[in-house]
Amino acid sequence: MKNALVQLFVGLILFTMGTAKVAHAQKTNPATEAKIKALVQKMTLEEKVGQMAQVAIDQLGSPNYATKTFNLDPKKMEEILVKYKVGSILNTPPGILLDAKQWNEVVNKIHEFSQQNRLKIPVIYGLDQVHGASYVGGFTSFPQEIGQAATWNRELVREGASIAAYESRAANVPWSFAPVLDLGMNPTWPRIWESFGEDPYLVGEMGVQFVKGMQEPLGNKEKISVSLKHYLGYSDPKFSKDRTNAWIPEHYLREYHLPPFEAAIKAGARNVMVNSALVNGIPGHINKQFLTDILKKELGFTGFVVTDWQDVDNIHKRDRIAKDNKEAVMLCINAGIDMSMIPYNYKEFCDNLVALVKEGKVTQARIDDAVTRILRVKFELDLFNTPLTSLDQYPKFGGAEFTRAAYNTAAESITLLKNEKNVLPLKSNSKILVVGPNANSMRPLNGGWTYTWQGDRTDEFTAQYNTILEAIEKKFGKTNVTHVEGVSYNMKGKYHEDKVVDIEAAVKAAAAVDFVVLCLGENSYTETPGNLNEMNLSDNQVALAKAMVTAGKPIILVLNEGRPRIISQFEPAISAILNIYLPGNFGADALADILAGDVNPSGKLPITYPRYANSLTPYIHKYSDQIANPQGAYDYTADFNPQYHFGFGLSYTTFEYSDLKVDKKSIEPNGTVNVSVTVKNSGNVEGKEVVQLFIGDVHASLSPDVKRLRGFEKIFLKPGESKQVTFAVAAKDLAFINLQNKRQLEAGDFKVDIDKLTASFSVTKTIVF
Ligand code: BGC
Repeated sequence: MKNALVQLFVGLILFTMGTAKVAHAQKTNPATEAKIKALVQKMTLEEKVGQMAQVAIDQLGSPNYATKTFNLDPKKMEEILVKYKVGSILNTPPGILLDAKQWNEVVNKIHEFSQQNRLKIPVIYGLDQVHGASYVGGFTSFPQEIGQAATWNRELVREGASIAAYESRAANVPWSFAPVLDLGMNPTWPRIWESFGEDPYLVGEMGVQFVKGMQEPLGNKEKISVSLKHYLGYSDPKFSKDRTNAWIPEHYLREYHLPPFEAAIKAGARNVMVNSALVNGIPGHINKQFLTDILKKELGFTGFVVTDWQDVDNIHKRDRIAKDNKEAVMLCINAGIDMSMIPYNYKEFCDNLVALVKEGKVTQARIDDAVTRILRVKFELDLFNTPLTSLDQYPKFGGAEFTRAAYNTAAESITLLKNEKNVLPLKSNSKILVVGPNANSMRPLNGGWTYTWQGDRTDEFTAQYNTILEAIEKKFGKTNVTHVEGVSYNMKGKYHEDKVVDIEAAVKAAAAVDFVVLCLGENSYTETPGNLNEMNLSDNQVALAKAMVTAGKPIILVLNEGRPRIISQFEPAISAILNIYLPGNFGADALADILAGDVNPSGKLPITYPRYANSLTPYIHKYSDQIANPQGAYDYTADFNPQYHFGFGLSYTTFEYSDLKVDKKSIEPNGTVNVSVTVKNSGNVEGKEVVQLFIGDVHASLSPDVKRLRGFEKIFLKPGESKQVTFAVAAKDLAFINLQNKRQLEAGDFKVDIDKLTASFSVTKTIVF
């Protein structure tokens, strides 16, 4: 007892000394630290380097396509796990989908081999599981992150991540490459749908919930480690294409891109994956300032940093910075990389790193730090005691309870963008024509990272779930529903390829129905294959939409897409619009329930929906982006005029806002202001409303953003019911990052916006901190 106390005390002193300037350094446990230290002392250089290597599953064996199994090859296992002592394996085998039981067997065998090693350090397996355990047959499919964010419901995000963790453990996998915390502010970027949207506060809030749901309490066998990705500045490449250079000054990185990572690290995230691209010409993987100075020192991150796919080699082969792989390894490890997702040429990485240490080009201390971080997470996950888990311990896998949660998340994500003359909900005996390339496939409902990397084989594994057509048939009766495709995707080609099938037949069929449900959007994709050349919907889909308009029946447009494709060419002729994003396997059921009025939509856009392909200004922008009132004789406007604003979404009921109050007229920089508002359900049906608090700095020495989201709360109201919602806002949270990269809060007025109400307060003094 006494020893333990002394240790704790010494630990605390060291901790405090080493991280004096760190605001919220992640905590470590002195007892675990002592175990790690003892283990690291016993390790040879080769054993340490093995821990720093991560290899793809297909290096360990090969898939048998006939039996749909993965055959591990003992020779390759021996070489990778015993000779090279590799400490981590990733990915799903190419071309086949393993169910939870098969995953159990594969990971068991990997573990068995790894235990031939002298020190018996467990291997950590990692998979991409952004919307559920999506590489495991039979998993529960949640909406992709963009849809999760559209719920604006913290609890649902937390629950979804917790279920993903449970199902991942059922498959024997303790680590997920999620959540994506990249800021989705550039709608042409192909991974927008993997993000929680364009606002740093919203992304941070959802990221924190995701981390808690997946990790807490770490060490419990229903929990796994997250990986925050892709740190830092990945999502806003100057020329919009995936894995290309972003031009972002440091004060903007800190203002917009860093806060979600900071919040999730504060919440205890144990792993961070690095931006595969470049910022200001510097590849993320050799950026010492980002990886060591900011992440590890300033934010006090005590977990480990993993590279993205093949990115050490990219420093040599793609970015032409290092003259060979060895120099690339040196630059990356010295910048702060702890584990390399190699994923194929492990010999090169391991041999080069061993040689670099022997030559003194990478220090032993850097290696020990990297290994300590990796072992820390392995200990915290309790992999030394419980290295394996199996499906039979997880009876809730893929069951009704989880299905319900995924359905609820999908239902709360769906966003009603237009409802002219209250055309929705539809009466139960309505005759409906279902049209469009997204109407009858599970693939676009799920998007990428589902069963396969590009999500291109989803229809093979999802016969038991409903497409939009099937869900509408179930809801409204088969005899009331007609289906004509009009346009179809090329399921064997590129994601953006589609063709006209029978547009005229679709127009004709409309004559016999009351409503047309027009299902447009995108097929599944991710990363570079998802790069975009044209923000408008495809020519064929626009032609289909325009043709359907000529039929003269009310059109309900269902948008099933990963990013907001332009619809302004035909939007005025559409009666109702529902954005369902990528809602997962239960999204179509939720949509049908919303069409029928059994569920009242409550999703709100987590992104700005642009009106024109070349007007992509997000809601966070400067006053110069929205000059609507030119002076004198000039007659021009530079309106900020998106199709739909960030945060927008309708309901089948109406909400009235009143009594916006701030409890103080002015506050000190250390003070807090309470902002309250009353919301009433003034319609006839119960519903959920997202109360959004925006605040704008009226004048600042760097031109202020017009407004910024500073709080939100989703509330449920019965017809006639009112609730008061109060937000406590700390003045310091309203600071901006100045050109010296410090937080600056300036004296002066701040404008508060909630719905259409406004108020103001002032801050008394300028501070820099
Ligand atoms: C992606 C990551 C992913 C990794 C492992 C990369 O290509 O950028 O998001 O986690 O592959 O599959």
